[in-house]
Amino acid sequence: MKFLKQASSFFLKEIFIGHALTLKYFFKKKVTINYPYEKGPLSPRFRGEHALRRYPNGEERCIACKLCEAICPAQAIVIEAEGRADGSRRTTKYDIDMMKCIYCGLCQEACPVDAIVESPNFEFATETREELYYNKEKLLANGERYEYALRGNIEADAEYR
Ligand code: SF4
Ligand code: SF4
Repeated sequence: MKFLKQASSFFLKEIFIGHALTLKYFFKKKVTINYPYEKGPLSPRFRGEHALRRYPNGEERCIACKLCEAICPAQAIVIEAEGRADGSRRTTKYDIDMMKCIYCGLCQEACPVDAIVESPNFEFATETREELYYNKEKLLANGERYEYALRGNIEADAEYR
């Protein structure tokens, strides 16, 4: 037994096994990607940065029902609302503290008009805390930026909701 161990060490058996393994994977398809220039696939249910959507005619979807604010377990959403002359209700303030948010997706699930949604964007790191206090303008701008992807994701998941 001792002799076999010594022979194995003498002929560098482990080194050859290591090289053979390297050679085996050298010609295989690469599993790594060159992030951030390449990105992996995302599920339509991915819960990223929040956005507020509009209807195709430009009208805000949100009807200020406050269901999202009520259901948020982190109490990250603050809404103020008022009635319009035409009898509809719209928010005057819609803030989300993104540092409190735990990305549970309950606000999105509670919304009866698919107004508040979580977009596929996961690249929104900031240098200051203040930048993570989102207001209505920021959320509506996100909605416009990601509408194409958001609509596709909602349609892809509609059958299961
Ligand atoms: S994802 Fe969850 S924690 Fe974040 S704002 Fe929506 S309900 Fe609140
Ligand atoms: S985003 Fe949806 S759930 Fe929240 S207040 Fe507006 S309509 Fe209601």
